[in-house]
Amino acid sequence: QRILVTGGTGFIGQVLCPKLVAKGYSLTVLSRQSETDVRAACGRVEAISNLELLREHPGFDGIINLAGEGIADKRWSQQRKQVLRDSRIGLTCQLVSVVKSWDNKPGVLVSGSAVGYYGNQDSTLVNEETPPNDEFTHRLCRDWEAEAVKLEAEGVRVCLSRTGVVAGPGGGFLQRMLLPFRLGLGGRLGSGDQYMPWVHRDDVVAALIFMLESGNATGPYNVVSPNPVTNREFTRCLAATLKRPAIFPAPAPVLKLALGEMSRLLLTGQQATPQRLLQQDFRFTYPDLAETLENCIR
Ligand code: NDP
Repeated sequence: QRILVTGGTGFIGQVLCPKLVAKGYSLTVLSRQSETDVRAACGRVEAISNLELLREHPGFDGIINLAGEGIADKRWSQQRKQVLRDSRIGLTCQLVSVVKSWDNKPGVLVSGSAVGYYGNQDSTLVNEETPPNDEFTHRLCRDWEAEAVKLEAEGVRVCLSRTGVVAGPGGGFLQRMLLPFRLGLGGRLGSGDQYMPWVHRDDVVAALIFMLESGNATGPYNVVSPNPVTNREFTRCLAATLKRPAIFPAPAPVLKLALGEMSRLLLTGQQATPQRLLQQDFRFTYPDLAETLENCIR
């Protein structure tokens, strides 16, 4: 089976792609990087630099669409917000146009989204039907999902991965938190009452493959562990794993000043549950936070 992957070189893709290759899939990875770099990240895959090149090369059985500029990499100026939108909505729009030009459509599109879809939810228990609150991350995810869903009209099964905060070794948000915590300078963010819908990267990869392979999977899935915790609980657990104190809270006004609107990523959250994955008998390898942190850090 031939699969097209966008964003395959990223933090999730680096684990997803080798796993798909090991399962016998033949992968084409869309990337701005050189073929050598793509292969270093993804394994034995074909690299392509431009989606337009695929108009004349149909024959994919499935697509996994994860590309997007890093949401937490830079302050959200108007210009940065546009870059975040273009790299997701713009690219997905182009992908949809290329797929429409093919006579033989792929069976499935698994497309990225995030729990940011729901906006800030305080302590509401969030499943896939929870009404979203309007803010930048909501509009970003809503419009990204809406592009992907356009392929349903072409007979393509579309799954949306509303991914939580991904924990894995050697990258992601955990890597950014480790240094202050190792130095004993860690602490809760703001009040610490906001929920962090964390998920182990291996479970994200397994969920993406579940959506790809389960013929009746369709629509949005919260890809989060079944045990969301507050930032206060997360902080305590991380400090315990590192055997360091975590007594230096970062006050909300300081984070707002330093990060602007992007501070909402740290100061707000969702008590999201993977309701649809659980209903469809998906099994999490890492449901427990302490075990996850142990696995990611050691
Ligand atoms: P990364 O930031 O690690 O990787 C994203 C990939 O997207 C990059 O490898 C890059 O590929 C590609 N990309 C970035 N900018 C552009 C651009 N302007 N045009 C085309 N391609 C681009 O992401 P993750 O692996 O962490 O996540 C994958 C997706 O899941 C992302 O869209 C992210 O928003 C979403 N997500 C991730 C979460 C997390 O905690 N990690 C949480 C929720 C959602 P290349 O350099 O090869 O072109």
